[in-house]
Amino acid sequence: MARFNRILLKLSGESLQGQRGYGIDPQRLGEYAQQVKDISDMGVQIGIVIGGGNIFRGLSGTGQGFDRVKGDQMGMLATVINSLALSSALTAIGCRNRVLTAIRMEPIGEFYTKWRAIEAMQQGEVVIMSCGTGSPYFTTDTGSSLRGIEIEADVMLKGTRVDGVYTADPEKDPTATKFTEITYDEVLERNLKVMDLSAIVMCRDNHLPIYVFNMDQVGNLRRVMDGEPIGTLVKA
Ligand code: UDP
Repeated sequence: MARFNRILLKLSGESLQGQRGYGIDPQRLGEYAQQVKDISDMGVQIGIVIGGGNIFRGLSGTGQGFDRVKGDQMGMLATVINSLALSSALTAIGCRNRVLTAIRMEPIGEFYTKWRAIEAMQQGEVVIMSCGTGSPYFTTDTGSSLRGIEIEADVMLKGTRVDGVYTADPEKDPTATKFTEITYDEVLERNLKVMDLSAIVMCRDNHLPIYVFNMDQVGNLRRVMDGEPIGTLVKA
């Protein structure tokens, strides 16, 4: 039995670039797809929100003179590119899935509604929800909080390259220690970089727990579903 029945999995675009520094690393993409298939085969209902930072971020565009809204729209399109790549990789290994878009762009994906997402998950399809929230000035962190709450997920799994939430950035501070559990409010008080503040607050106010874990290590998604304590749980 898997630990959760329905999950929202947040994948960062940046992780998808692997060692490359830009774009999509086919090996990382394939590993992600296989990890998702493994838990889909367990019967877990899976919604995925994927970032776009490996291709374009609106804020960095602003620094180069782009209009912020257009820059954010470019970022949202980047999430569509990543979503299509993941969809293709899942299909290649026989994992049924569909891409929904928060901005209309048939035939690239179907227009997102909560009910379409839930119906597809209940039929055993992995649902990839692209374009974040569909609005500028947000991020895919907020997008995944929103979608996780909407689809009534049991938990948001934030797959990153770090294995949980630390007292400080473990890549910079060797004395940093990891939390097994932490409350939303403590994350906010300590200003820990788990997700955007708005994403944390949304999860807190709507009772969506967040589990932070290292998704780049193959097999970890399955370990989380098996209940192995490999990451950090953020809860009330
Ligand atoms: N974005 C947006 N609205 C959203 C989600 C994303 O405008 O609801 C844009 C924003 O410009 C962001 C970019 O898409 O920088 C890529 O998303 P994000 O930075 O969250 O990707 P990640 O860091 O997870 O790779």
